[in-house]
Amino acid sequence: MTELLANYWAGRWQRGSGKGTSLIDPVLGNELVKIDATGLDLAEGFHFAREQGGKALRALNYRERGALLSAMVNLLQANRGDYYDISTANSGTVKNDTAIDVDGGIFTLSQYAKFGEKLGDRKFLLDGELARLGKDPLFQAQHILTPTRGVALFINAFNFPSWGFWEKAAPALLSGVPVIIKPASATAWLTQRMVKDVVDAGILPAGALSIICGSSEGLLDQLQAFDVVSFTGSAATASLIRSHPAMTEQSVRVNIEADSINSALFLPDETADSAAFDLLVKEVVREMSVKSGQKCTAIRRIFVPTTLYAAAAEAISAKLANITVGNPRHESVRMGAVVNKSQLHSIQAGLAQLQSQADTLFDGAKQPLVDADTQTSCCIAPTLLGVGDADKAQIVHELEVFGPVATLIAYRDVDHALQLIRRGQGSLVSSLYGSDPQALAHAAIELGDSHGRVHVISPDVGAVHTGHGNVMPQSIHGGPGRAGGGEELGGLRALNFYHRRSAIQASTTVLEQLQ
Ligand code: NAP
Repeated sequence: MTELLANYWAGRWQRGSGKGTSLIDPVLGNELVKIDATGLDLAEGFHFAREQGGKALRALNYRERGALLSAMVNLLQANRGDYYDISTANSGTVKNDTAIDVDGGIFTLSQYAKFGEKLGDRKFLLDGELARLGKDPLFQAQHILTPTRGVALFINAFNFPSWGFWEKAAPALLSGVPVIIKPASATAWLTQRMVKDVVDAGILPAGALSIICGSSEGLLDQLQAFDVVSFTGSAATASLIRSHPAMTEQSVRVNIEADSINSALFLPDETADSAAFDLLVKEVVREMSVKSGQKCTAIRRIFVPTTLYAAAAEAISAKLANITVGNPRHESVRMGAVVNKSQLHSIQAGLAQLQSQADTLFDGAKQPLVDADTQTSCCIAPTLLGVGDADKAQIVHELEVFGPVATLIAYRDVDHALQLIRRGQGSLVSSLYGSDPQALAHAAIELGDSHGRVHVISPDVGAVHTGHGNVMPQSIHGGPGRAGGGEELGGLRALNFYHRRSAIQASTTVLEQLQ
């Protein structure tokens, strides 16, 4: 019989009492495990986390909490093999793609462990300098940041069951805030196993980490004023969360990471035989194929000058033709499956919509699959679309196809390109390719207000840059507008979300006690 995964709720392992939802291997089509949260006492779990977990975490200082993160890093490293196996089975990913999720998550955790060491023995943080409030220097203000006394509820997307969880949990736990994670159902197994390993090892105090796998029903109703919610997923669900009374009436703080039509821009005055052009082509192909394009940061739109449109189409297509798609267990396969049939159908439907306004330059539908069946598996090869007359294809700026699909778009001049990029209404990341530092810096500033990150690639950083789609814990992740308006990571900036800022106005001698 298929195993029903347990939830770690209110300090004990509990199984749901319902029929459960099956998690499926997206390549072989078989059932792997089941999840269910029916019948769990939601109020009890939130109360336990808030009271027991919160109190215990706040009793520690940043250094001690950093040490807990370090212990988790060691444990997760030791169990990496299991996580890879689960990822292959449940997400259909090849090893390199699993590494982004599993190792990326552990790496992020390790970075926040180091930040904890740096923050030292404090139990709250100072924000800025002492500020004089009047002529007399005796009465001043000092802003401080103290950990919020609520829980952090995370509702995550299916595409990063490890990284997507740890990149949120690391700053929350370091801040002293207990975590409740509700992973996306389709890939909840990996998150559940990682949480299980950490809980069973007894690293964290009781109530610091809880997991609930299954329906999200009723979770938001449990939120109270000092809780926070961090959500990653579709714009439609994000809007439901934003309009819930917990946010509108109790001011529960919410961070949203939603969809995004990211872009890559090849600057004018470059040629098809330049190093910058090779870097663009390489990165586009990588972004289309890594995790089968199921990455919130993936390049969806590629902007090149009209004169280089044909050369770019040819160079990208030639590289896409070399990508073998199929069963990730097969040595020759470079790109595995998308996560399930529902996503596969959504990609196919989205692709058809884009094709109503774009040409097909490289057709993934014509590519053979390796060791995978078109009926059973959720494998789909990359497709490159093209738009020669950019002003006539609005849909490519509006519809995010969450799979291995990107559109090449010809622009007239750099102002035209920047204006087209802005049609994405705010994105997570845009990357720039060129060799003129002044032109690159100018374009980066122009894109700054509508992008959480601008990734600038010139030949001098060709071998050392971190990648368009890779989210580094040192830089912020998030974006304005349709990207959700959220902000995560960015080193210590991530801790702000889990702290409350207040101005302490007092005599200088009192304020000295805070230093
Ligand atoms: P989704 O349907 O919105 O699901 C996301 C999460 O919300 C899942 O855990 C889901 O649970 C839960 N959920 C669904 N309905 C809910 C409700 N009414 N109330 C509370 N929670 C609810 O998103 P998706 O289609 O799985 O994810 C893909 C999308 O995520 C893409 O658009 C992608 O761009 C975006 N994404 C963004 C980022 C980023 O960092 N910006 C990262 C990754 C993905 P169930 O799974 O149980 O339904």
